[in-house]
Amino acid sequence: MRARAMSWGRWPRDEPSMVLSLSDRFAALPAHAPRPMLAYGNGRSYGDVCLNQGGTLLKTRSLDRFIAFDPVFGTLECESGVLLSEIIDLALPYGWFPPVTPGTALVTVGGAIANDVHGKNHHRAACFSSHLLEFELCRSDGTRMICSATQNRPWFQATVGGLGLTGLISRARLRLRRVPGPWFRGDSQRFTRLHEFFDLSRQSDGDYEYTVAWIDCAASETALGRGIFMRANHAPGDGVEPKRVAMHVPFTPPVPLVNRASLRLFNYLYYERASAVQKDALWQYRPFLYPLDSIMNWNMIYGPHGFFQYQCVVPERDAEASVHEILRRVSRSGVGSFLAVLKNFGTSAPVGMLSFARPGTTLALDFPNRGEVTLKLLESLDEITRAAGGAVYPAKDARMSPAAFQQYFPEWTRFTEFVDPKFSSSFWRRVTGVSV
Ligand SMILES: Cc1cc2nc3c(=O)[nH]c(=O)nc-3n(C[C@H](O)[C@H](O)[C@H](O)COP(=O)(O)OP(=O)(O)OC[C@H]3O[C@@H](n4cnc5c(N)ncnc54)[C@H](O)[C@@H]3O)c2cc1C
Repeated sequence: MRARAMSWGRWPRDEPSMVLSLSDRFAALPAHAPRPMLAYGNGRSYGDVCLNQGGTLLKTRSLDRFIAFDPVFGTLECESGVLLSEIIDLALPYGWFPPVTPGTALVTVGGAIANDVHGKNHHRAACFSSHLLEFELCRSDGTRMICSATQNRPWFQATVGGLGLTGLISRARLRLRRVPGPWFRGDSQRFTRLHEFFDLSRQSDGDYEYTVAWIDCAASETALGRGIFMRANHAPGDGVEPKRVAMHVPFTPPVPLVNRASLRLFNYLYYERASAVQKDALWQYRPFLYPLDSIMNWNMIYGPHGFFQYQCVVPERDAEASVHEILRRVSRSGVGSFLAVLKNFGTSAPVGMLSFARPGTTLALDFPNRGEVTLKLLESLDEITRAAGGAVYPAKDARMSPAAFQQYFPEWTRFTEFVDPKFSSSFWRRVTGVSV
C-alpha cells in the first residue's frame, strides 16, 4: 500500500513505498517489504527522522497494549505504540505520572525512547532513558534483545536517542513517579533581559522541578530577550479539572496564517497580557505541560508548505551571548517565531550515543517554510550553535548539513556499528550519505 505519512512540520513530503501497521508484538518483522524499514510512532517529530522516502514505514500505534502495571511501586510495562497520554489516563488515578514528558503527551513510548525526549524538568529528572527499566529490541535478522542500563548496555546506549535505526522497539518497562494528583502549583513572571532569565533559572532550579520560559521573538532589537518565566511543582489541589475539549483546524489554509503581522501581534499580546507576576497559581497538568495538545492539528496553520522547528542547545559558558545572537539574527531577518521556548538543561550527561539533551541552555523556535530565505536563516543560526560547541535536535530537524550533524554528534561513527542493516531513514541518509 502506498500511503502518506507526514511528520509534524509537514515538510519534507518524503513518501514511503509501503506503510505497514504492526499489531502483533510477537510477529517477525516483514521479510518482503521494500527496504529499508523504519518504525513510525505518532509522527510528532517535526522533520525527517520518522520519514523513509521509498522504503517501508512500520506504524506502531496499534501496538497499544498495557502488559503490566504495579500501582504500589509505579512500574509499568507496555507495548511501544502506547501514548504517554494513555499512560497518564491509566496511572494518574493511582497517583503516578510519567517522570519525563515532552511538550505533547501525544507521543508513543517507542518515539520517546528513540529520541530520548526531555521535558521542563530536565534539570531534575534528565531524559526519558533515565527512567527506563528495559525494552525489547527486534532486529531484522529475527533476533530479540532485552536492553537495559545493565543488560546489553551498548545496545541500550545506541537505541535510546538512536532515531529508530537500531531496529524495532516492541515493548518497554518504565518507572513512573509519585504525584499527589493532576495539579501543579507555581508562579510566572516577566523578565526584560536575557540575564534575568539566567538568574531566575539559577534561583529556581533547586526548589522547582519544572522551569521554562517563553521568549518574545518579535520584540524590537532594543527589547530583545524579554519573556515570561514559569516554574512549578506537582502539588495537591482541589480545583475543578477543566473539561477536555479537542479543537481542530478545519482545513489547511492556502497561505500560512503565521506571518510577520500575526507574529508581532501574538507576541506583543502574549507578553503584555501576562500579568507581571503570577504568584502561587494552580494549574491542571494539561494546560501547564501540554498547552498545544488542545488544538489537535495546530501544525496546519503554517499552510501548505509546512514549517521548521529549530531547537539547539549551547553550553553554559557562552549560553547568554549565543542565545542573544540567535535572537538578534531572527529579529533582523524579520521572519520571527511564533513560539520560542528557552530552558536550562541540568548537568546529567547524555545516556544515548546520539541523545540530544546535554548540559547547557536550549532554545526552540518555529518558522514558517518560506524556502531559501528560511533555510539561509537556519544555516546562519547553525553557525552560532557550531561555534559555541552546541548541537541541534534531530527530532526537530529537516535540514541540518552532514558536517553539522557529525560535529554535533561525534559518537555517530561508533553508532553506525549498531544500525540494523535493513533499517534507515530519510534523516540518516541525508546526514551520513549512507544508504542501505
Ligand atoms: C508540540 C510538540 C512539543 C514537543 N516538545 C518536546 C519536548 O519538550 N522535548 C522533546 O524532547 N521533544 C519534544 N517534541 C518532539 C517529540 O517528543 C519527539 O519527536 C517524539 O519522539 C515523537 O514521538 P512519536 O511517537 O510521534 O514518534 P515519531 O515522530 O513517529 O518517530 C520519532 C522517532 O522514533 C522512532 N520510533 C518510533 N517508534 C519506534 C519504535 N517502536 N521502535 C524504534 N523506533 C521508533 C522513529 O523511527 C523516529 O526515528 C515535541 C513535539 C511536538 C509536536
